[in-house]
Amino acid sequence: MASKANSIKRIVAYFSMEIALENDMPSYSGGLGVLAGDTIRAAADLRLPMVAVSLLYRRGYFTQRLAEDGTQTEEPVEWAVEKFLEEEPERTSVTLEDRRVELRSWRYAVKGVRGFEVPVYFLDADLDSNAAVDRNLTGTLYGGDSYYRLCQEVLLGIGGVRMLRALGYNELTRYHMNEGHAALLALQLLREEAEKAGRTSIRGEDIEKVRSKCVFTTHTPVPAGHDRFPMEFLTRAFPNQKEFLDLKDTSSADLMKRVLQAGQNFPDLQEAARGGASLNMTQLALGLSTYVNGVAKQHGETSRQMFPEVPIEAITNGVHAGTWTSPAFQQLFDRYIPNWREDNYSLRGALGLPAEEVWASHLIAKHELFEEVRKKTGLNFDPEVFTVGFARRATGYKRADLILADLNRLRQIAKNAGLFQIIYAGKAHPNDGGGKDIIRHIFQAKKALRKTVPVVFLDDYNLDLGGKITSGVDLWLNTPQFPLEASGTSGMKSALNGVPSLSILDGWWVEGHIEGVTGWSIGESRRAAGGGAPTDNAAEAESLYSKLEDVILPMYYNERSKFLGVMQHAIAINGSFFNTQRMVQQYITDAYLR
Ligand SMILES: *Cc1c(COP(=O)(O)O)cnc(C)c1O
Repeated sequence: MASKANSIKRIVAYFSMEIALENDMPSYSGGLGVLAGDTIRAAADLRLPMVAVSLLYRRGYFTQRLAEDGTQTEEPVEWAVEKFLEEEPERTSVTLEDRRVELRSWRYAVKGVRGFEVPVYFLDADLDSNAAVDRNLTGTLYGGDSYYRLCQEVLLGIGGVRMLRALGYNELTRYHMNEGHAALLALQLLREEAEKAGRTSIRGEDIEKVRSKCVFTTHTPVPAGHDRFPMEFLTRAFPNQKEFLDLKDTSSADLMKRVLQAGQNFPDLQEAARGGASLNMTQLALGLSTYVNGVAKQHGETSRQMFPEVPIEAITNGVHAGTWTSPAFQQLFDRYIPNWREDNYSLRGALGLPAEEVWASHLIAKHELFEEVRKKTGLNFDPEVFTVGFARRATGYKRADLILADLNRLRQIAKNAGLFQIIYAGKAHPNDGGGKDIIRHIFQAKKALRKTVPVVFLDDYNLDLGGKITSGVDLWLNTPQFPLEASGTSGMKSALNGVPSLSILDGWWVEGHIEGVTGWSIGESRRAAGGGAPTDNAAEAESLYSKLEDVILPMYYNERSKFLGVMQHAIAINGSFFNTQRMVQQYITDAYLR
């Protein structure tokens, strides 16, 4: 069995807690994993010598069931790992609570447009040689308590680097942490540096060397969203304080202090290192990375305010164009824009596509979505009717129900400006009560609106459904509470399919929005005003309603050619830019080749 995807040496190791590769592999929960998968696909297209590491979740991320009233329940996903992945013979281990946890890995090869492969390794602790409690560590994604999460992060970071060595990846020059979950990888790299020098303790020079290799992408615009572990968890996981680095005289807290002293001045982390406090994974990653970025320009700004001690740049997210373009639009692009898969920039040529063919391709995608609606709900949606899509993780700040704030207003709009219908999907995290309430609220509104404004909620949002909804609706709606949408990517999927966005000016839309050209805004830009004012839900709902009533519905029904112009600009201006090909190229020049 060949261990290495091919014998090309790998330069970049990409670490992510979740990676979405195939619809039937439940190895992701949402945006972070979809981004990771799209990043790897683009790296393969660009023949970037990358290798990726994640954890294997045997019970996956859950299957969503919805009761009549919208109450969500979760079921574990059973999946046949061997059907998708190839087991590697190499083994490595980490020590937790003085127990040796043996790890194996399973390989998935992501093949690019030119045949180049990027291997992805999923670490697995479910081995006979391990204690039951450890076997379960690669059981569920974002399940268990905070200590369980820390143990998973030890496997990902420390176990991940060790597995790469066992597999023979010794030439890596960059380690990319996709979010703070992977930050412990830097500790393993520190240990390697000390060992190489024949020492048993860390010195400033080790920290400088490790820092020169690490790249960190932060995704979270709120302090509460960053992983933090009480220091007592560290002493519990590493009772002899040996394994944390396996260096006899280095206790975990002591190590943290040295990391800090040798590095820049991070008041929070020094506080943490004093003991009794917590280890903030973001701070750790910030302290040990040479390049740090947020995932959109606005998010870069928000991150700099949150962590003023470090320079934080921005590389705006993208989506993988070949993956998220519907079959009908793929065929259209193949006919008129050859090489668009190898060269996503050429999608700017979408302005020259025959409008009637754009419309025909859109109708095919719309029919495919409506067929899915029929299969899932038994309802026949009318393809002549203007259709709004909203699909993403159900959680408070995303405000899926903002459009449902005033049902009478919605009925009026349908009467005055033209009929419309809404298609929803999205899972709430099992512990997110607020997110679950939002789904129930949508079900109540659906009942109240009945046939005046048809609403459906499609269960079990996943990659396939995501592709169908983002390509098959006429308008993509996004209503996050500013500035909490770090980037958002589903509007980018829509843009590739000629579906314009109506969105709050947050995340990527700050950059992608040109009013009436690529889509429409809800409310005004908050950046000029400093962004600090509290969100006015009612005012934003009103802005949404008036855009629909006065601008978008009249254009859709009465000025179809103008609407088609917006569709073509969505592809040409946004599809050609907000893709992972451009994004990975930026990582190469700004972060990997620095
Ligand atoms: C694209 C996608 C996401 C992320 O969407 P956002 O707009 O970034 O929230 C989440 N889940 C699935 C299944 C997706 O396809």
